[in-house]
Amino acid sequence: MPDSAIPSTATLQQSITPEQVLERLKSGNKRFVTDASMIKGHMQSAYVAAEQGQHPLAIILNCVDSRSVANYLFDEGIGNMFVARVAGNVADANILGSMEFAAVHAGVKLIVVMGHTNCGAVTAACQGKPTGMPALDRLLKQIEPAVDIVKRQVGHPFNCDSAKTVDTVARQNVLNQMHYVISHSHDIADLVNDHKIMLVGAMHNLKTGKVFFFDSQGAAV
Ligand SMILES: [Zn+2]
Repeated sequence: MPDSAIPSTATLQQSITPEQVLERLKSGNKRFVTDASMIKGHMQSAYVAAEQGQHPLAIILNCVDSRSVANYLFDEGIGNMFVARVAGNVADANILGSMEFAAVHAGVKLIVVMGHTNCGAVTAACQGKPTGMPALDRLLKQIEPAVDIVKRQVGHPFNCDSAKTVDTVARQNVLNQMHYVISHSHDIADLVNDHKIMLVGAMHNLKTGKVFFFDSQGAAV
């Protein structure tokens, strides 16, 4: 695999498979957790990517949490990944448009919906109390279906002060957002069905730095 500090080229983007992009992100995450990042500087890459145009390999949808930073987690430099960020990593029409642009127009091979442990947005959705901020409440509503599913699975007592419960909801929320993507974009669904791109879920453990990947059924990939 090429050095992830070097901006991806059109040739690489065309020849790499979705599975290889996933392996590349896994390798990058191994480097992150062992503090063995390949990326030491950014300006040379920024210049090259600006000159040659962008040919990113993946788009990551993740939370705005300041501790869950995709380029660091996957040790990928400038020009290699699109990153869409919104609290609770919820997919909506704007996110879907960004993903369609990335997948159909810009040629990425992998879509990752990534949640993380100890997510404040998921915790707030789990607790279900209005925040008094209409826009934030609308956002949290998009996480509620995951809360309902986990509530049914766990039964009583259901405790949103439990880190395990919140993380279970976060993982379910990733699965729900993956379902949103595949069921609301014919273009992405066609690319996935034709094995031209992969859509995977992921959970980032804030404490260990490790990212676990899974498919739309929740099975490890
Ligand atoms: Zn979060």
